[in-house]
Amino acid sequence: MSVVTRFAPSPTGFLHIGGARTALFNYLFARHFGGTYLLRIEDTDKKRSTDEAIHAIKDGLDWLGLAGDRPAVLQSENEVRHRAVVEDMLASGTAYKCFLDNDELDALRAEARENGLPVRSPWRNRTDHPEHGSFVVRIKMPDEGATQIDDLVQGSVSIENKTLDDLVLLRSDGTPTYMLAVVVDDHDMGVTHILRGDDHLNNAFRQYYIYQAAGWDVPAFGHIPLIHGADGAKLSKRHGALGVDAYREMGFVPAGLLNYLARLGWSHGDDELFSLEMAASWFDGSAIGRSPSRFDMDKLRAVNAHWLQQIEEGEMAQMVIAYMEKQGHSAHARTAGWLEAMSGLFTERASTVVDVAEQTGWLFTEGAPQLSDEAAGQIDTDVKERLLKFAHFLEQAPTNSDELNIAIADWLAAEGLKMKELGIPLRIVMTGSKKAPSLVDIILGLGADETVKRIKQICF
Ligand code: GLU
Repeated sequence: MSVVTRFAPSPTGFLHIGGARTALFNYLFARHFGGTYLLRIEDTDKKRSTDEAIHAIKDGLDWLGLAGDRPAVLQSENEVRHRAVVEDMLASGTAYKCFLDNDELDALRAEARENGLPVRSPWRNRTDHPEHGSFVVRIKMPDEGATQIDDLVQGSVSIENKTLDDLVLLRSDGTPTYMLAVVVDDHDMGVTHILRGDDHLNNAFRQYYIYQAAGWDVPAFGHIPLIHGADGAKLSKRHGALGVDAYREMGFVPAGLLNYLARLGWSHGDDELFSLEMAASWFDGSAIGRSPSRFDMDKLRAVNAHWLQQIEEGEMAQMVIAYMEKQGHSAHARTAGWLEAMSGLFTERASTVVDVAEQTGWLFTEGAPQLSDEAAGQIDTDVKERLLKFAHFLEQAPTNSDELNIAIADWLAAEGLKMKELGIPLRIVMTGSKKAPSLVDIILGLGADETVKRIKQICF
């Protein structure tokens, strides 16, 4: 049997972090078994589904590389098929038309609740159907016994059948319910394994009987505990229950976010840092925890910091430029080249692309950056003279890092200066800040010509 998994989000909002993790687990499981991972957008709830949400979900999944092995299925496009399946169930007697009106239904529900019994419409056994009455179609649930599901995550779970209402499959306007649509689509897409949030565990028992009623095999289920905040409470905005797009804007990179999400509720020994390929080679559905995982922003940052360093310089330069342009800085002809040459210096002390970008404002200026009053105050006449002398030295200085270091040390000795007497003001003139990479790295990164130009601009 070839494994087929799916991620089936409802497009009622952005792709949140829990959804991304569900998608990832389904992806990893399919990859592990050499199977197929599919995406289905569950837009049957037309009042709550929006095109904007469909777009945001697809966008987020694309960015993470979890968009599915085939084009996404839109659930609403399968309505004709959903109705046809119900026709078959009616014909085989596993479902029935229920003509109760709202008042009758309310009374029936109240009575069932009072007696601790499931909802069973009297129409279950009636054949005297009115010719034109409005009806819903309900499934016939079993009255006796219990239903057991061997869940990949939760183990063996069971429910008393007398708790199962004869749920609605088709509404009176002929539209399918969520419960029906999920089952029909999963069957038609050949889904063999369903990994999803454990808030759907109760649905699994109900869906089990829809499969039975249709005469289909029931797929395997794995219900994953939800993600909680670091304080153990249900994940809220305050904890980081944001859209994947928000993490992207915060400067997380797909490899970092995916690595962190894989560890959220699943583990492989003590392994913390691993690629998607590694995770897929390990992810066989075991070792998914049964208790809620805790979302920890600091850990996410630490994992992301590792993956940030693996990013190729050209790509990093493009990400930094994209971020900076959004902040109102525009790149000039040399920005990308400088960023590529120096990106390693910035990623060393960064956890996110934003951390990298925030160190690079001086690569977006033409010539010297605008100095703050405080910074400008440090560049007095003496300092200017010193820097201009240094600029003169630089015009014939070596361009190799070791040699330049030695040459600068010799120059400082000859001038009777300490390193910081050059380093601090030169960093300020070049970058606007004292907190910048090493002098030699700056000089070689920008080039001696630009260094000299910036010194002259401020010191003449
Ligand atoms: N569309 C459902 C949701 O977003 C998921 C259904 C399922 O995975 O079976 O919660």
